[in-house]
Formats: sequence, C-alpha cells, structure tokens
Amino acid sequence: MPRRLEPGSRLVLASHNPGKLVEIRALVAPHGIAVVSAGELGLPEPEEPAPDFAGNARIKALAAATAAGLPALADDSGFCVAALGGAPGVLSARWAGPAKDFAAAMARVNDEMGTRPDRSSWFVSALCLAWPDGHAEVFEGRVDGECVWPPRGSAGFGYDPMFLPLGESGTYGEIPPARKAATSHRARAFALLMAACLG
Ligand code: IMP
Repeated sequence: MPRRLEPGSRLVLASHNPGKLVEIRALVAPHGIAVVSAGELGLPEPEEPAPDFAGNARIKALAAATAAGLPALADDSGFCVAALGGAPGVLSARWAGPAKDFAAAMARVNDEMGTRPDRSSWFVSALCLAWPDGHAEVFEGRVDGECVWPPRGSAGFGYDPMFLPLGESGTYGEIPPARKAATSHRARAFALLMAACLG
C-alpha cells in the first residue's frame, strides 16, 4: 500500500527550476496542502547522478525531506528524442549548460537530428514523494509528440517551444499553460501520485 500524505501536511517542493515550480504549485494547489520551495528553505541543489528519471527524483526528494524534516516532492524530467536514442533524456538540463541556455540546447537537438526523418519525441516526468524517515513513492508520466524547427511560442520553459504534442495544433510554447497542465507528462505523473497518496 502506498503511504498517503496526511491532510494538513506541509510539503517541500524540491526543485530550483522556476518553470517546474509554477507547474507543480498549480497541480498541488487544489489539494489544500501548504507548500514551501527548497529555495525558500535555503536547501542546496543535489547532484543528479542516477541513470534514470525515477532514481534522480528519489535522490532529490529524499535529500529535501531529510534536510527539512518534512515530506518533499521532487520532479526529475526530460526531453527524449527517438532519432537521438532518447537523448538528451536525463541530461536535458545539462545540455543547456551553466547559463541554462535552452535556445542553445534546442539548437543542439535540432543539429544532432540533422535530416533524419523520424521527428518523434517525448517528455517524461518522474515525481517522487518522500518522507524524512526515508520512505519514498515514485510515479512516472509521459507525453508523446514530435520535434518542430524553428521553435514556436514563448510560453512554458525548457524545450517547450520545439515540442508539438500529439493531437495539438500548437507547441507547448504556443498553447495556453492550462492546456499543457491538463495532459502533460508532469500532470500524468501527478494524477497517479494523487490517486495513490493524496485526498
Ligand atoms: P532536471 O529534472 O532538473 O534534470 O531538469 C529537467 C530538464 O528537462 C529541464 O531543465 C527542462 O530543460 C527539461 N524539461 C522537463 N520538463 C519539461 C517541460 O515540461 N517542458 C520543457 N522542458 C522540460
């Protein structure tokens, strides 16, 4: 049985990524849970050495839960391109370099794809809810689509402007944030977490 988050709990959002924090706050808001971010608590950003999203989400959530003495929620996510064997994947943030230059990271994806005909890509989000005693629950969501070039739109963050989700007429940079929030990889992972651990 998954462990549930007690009503009235405070929850640490174990991310320093502003784009993710906006989306995770919106997902948590309807549940009446008081949230505080890792940045507001002055928690450091841990390394992400795991080879998969679930492993890194677990590392981040457990580090924050232990340091804060509170339950913590972490997201590890990334952009995966079929023609690149799933890259950048867990290295999605690192492809943008220390300057977090996602225009450069998207250009690198496009350059490395070259003229390969398979434009399919997907986002993955692993969400981990962890407690200070070391217990952790992990849930994964995925959304499929294709790469477009040049990038389109200025909404969202990261690789959003070059990702056209299946069934949408605009990229994540173009469609309203509420539309992304309804069906994104993060929303899908959160729906599983909610069913198992909240409410
Ligand atoms: P990490 O989980 O901290 O390793 O960072 C994941 C990286 O993947 C982010 O910095 C973004 O570049 C990318 N990413 C994850 N989710 C999204 C998304 O919803 N839209 C666009 N880029 C994303």
